[in-house]
Amino acid sequence: MAEILIVEDEVSINELIKKNLCLAGHHCAQVFDGNDAIALAGREKFDLIILDIMLPGADGYEVLEQIQGTPVIFLTAKSELSDKLRGLSRGADDYITKPFQMLELAARVEALLRRTKRTEQYFELDHVRLDFERRLIFVDGKPADCTPKEYELFDTLVKNRNIALSREKLLDLVWGYDFEGGTRTVDVHIQRLRAKLGLEKRIVTVYKLGYRLEAPS
Ligand code: CA
Repeated sequence: MAEILIVEDEVSINELIKKNLCLAGHHCAQVFDGNDAIALAGREKFDLIILDIMLPGADGYEVLEQIQGTPVIFLTAKSELSDKLRGLSRGADDYITKPFQMLELAARVEALLRRTKRTEQYFELDHVRLDFERRLIFVDGKPADCTPKEYELFDTLVKNRNIALSREKLLDLVWGYDFEGGTRTVDVHIQRLRAKLGLEKRIVTVYKLGYRLEAPS
């Protein structure tokens, strides 16, 4: 899961990107103006920014100058694809020309995140192995039959292992801030995850709070 900022003034494209990246398990923030992008990127830390070039307010090039250090995927019409854009690429970055296939964008996002972020490839506990790269959980060497939300929940527990997480925190991290279901959703998913992974003793209930994955560090 990554925190991604989408900067695109065409609302339908912005929404479509958000929808697809959320389905892939990421958290997305959206802005529709270059100045808003600079302001938000200054306040919050993002793992990746998807940045349109032609924007109201500051354009994509101006935004880029203000957000050094965050990996960027540029969105650009083919006609705008210039040496300037290529010259700006800093190795960690990428660009994609409009119109584009959502699958291609998603693949580029994952590749860029891998290049810039992921250092840990596996997490192992007892008979369970979490493969961050392939987004799979193995039990005794066989892929576990987990839903995307169950994967996301386990991934979140693993990344916060040995820390008690409240049900509300888990809802925010796994389901997102705008999820309208209650904390019971977390309990149901935890039950299923414990059973599917055989980690009843490792995923412990923290009285009156939530859950914690107990793993030797
Ligand atoms: Ca635009």
